[in-house]
Amino acid sequence: MRDAKLWQATLGVERAVVESVVFDDELGGVVASVRPRKGATRRCGVCQRRCSWYDRGEGRRQWRALDLGSVPVWVEAEAPRVSCPEHGVVVVAFGWARHRARHTTEFENEVAWLAARCSRKAVCELMRVAWRTVTAIVERVVADAHRRADPLEGLRRIGIDEVAYKKGHRYLTVVVDHASGRLVWAEPGRDKATLNSFFDALGKSRCAKLVEVTADGADWIASVVASRCLNARVSMDAFHVVQWATEALDEVRRDVWNQARRAGGDKVLAGRLKGCRYALWKDPDRLTGRQRGKLHWVAHENRQLYRAYLLKEELRLAIRTKGDEGIRLLAHWLTWASHCRLRPFVELAAKVRRHRVAIEQALRSGSSNALAESTNTKIRVLTRVAFGFRSPQPLIAMAMLSVGGACPQLPGRNRPSTLERPPV
Ligand SMILES: [Zn+2]
Repeated sequence: MRDAKLWQATLGVERAVVESVVFDDELGGVVASVRPRKGATRRCGVCQRRCSWYDRGEGRRQWRALDLGSVPVWVEAEAPRVSCPEHGVVVVAFGWARHRARHTTEFENEVAWLAARCSRKAVCELMRVAWRTVTAIVERVVADAHRRADPLEGLRRIGIDEVAYKKGHRYLTVVVDHASGRLVWAEPGRDKATLNSFFDALGKSRCAKLVEVTADGADWIASVVASRCLNARVSMDAFHVVQWATEALDEVRRDVWNQARRAGGDKVLAGRLKGCRYALWKDPDRLTGRQRGKLHWVAHENRQLYRAYLLKEELRLAIRTKGDEGIRLLAHWLTWASHCRLRPFVELAAKVRRHRVAIEQALRSGSSNALAESTNTKIRVLTRVAFGFRSPQPLIAMAMLSVGGACPQLPGRNRPSTLERPPV
């Protein structure tokens, strides 16, 4: 074959011999016949071990490869089977594709990279594949990444949380690593059995190395952690505390709004109150001019609601300040909230008191809340596209891809290229 290097590089089959490249009118694309190099033949598709020949299998096989310009490409090769002492009769390993894949590794990596960043429609149209194919590819890419680097290795400080997916209250239990900021584990369910299966996967010696576990204060998490992680301190995911305060504030806002809306109430006030939800929720540093105006208006018009807003903000400040100063602020907040005569906040104060030890532990250790928050937000975004998933497994794989660090590089980016020189 002439121009061997050209074809190896463009087809992404650098570890194979290209025998021929033709345009196939029937397929409407390019078909490249390849064979493995000498040292790469007769290896088990699962473990790559050299094995003895078994049979020709189903003969020749094709894999979709990246397009040449706008022309689709297939790589074609013999797909014999070998007899592996561990995996039985199995199709050989191919240097250009993952085991059981019908697309080349480069094609799969590009699909996965896009799936982590683009809309479902964009990925399917650009790569000319069905969504079903995309999810199967993502699962395979993630499994491959986890085989290369076990995400459960080296964990010291973790956060455990639950995320709802789909309607009908179905949940995933998720575990994040506070050091790397990554999602490391997720499985359907939110009960002791689910969480126990995480600690089973982690194993005894790695459980013993955990020094801190943050959680949202749920009893089922606390009791499993207490029995499985003997060396870890349990602290409250402070992000959840802020979330509780936001919910209490929203309850006060709804009460005030309902009062104004009722017969004989102030309709104008009700309308304006409806519009200040975001101004009340948002971090004050990030308010727009208009939202700041709304907040001023609330301060003048409704002292109850403004008090609720200040209570939320002081709690947020205590959480953000951390350390001894944060603990002092928390104590001040507890006294204030307990006597504020706003039912949602009086109840919240009681709840915070119940979890006070774990919250103070979080303030002392300064575990990042931003992490748990952003991971949760991203998973929630993913659950919105989850209607296309029949089971939670593809959703989990997609989460591992976008927030678990399992996303591959785009093909060809590890070759040096003049394109990466900064523009003059
Ligand atoms: Zn094997």
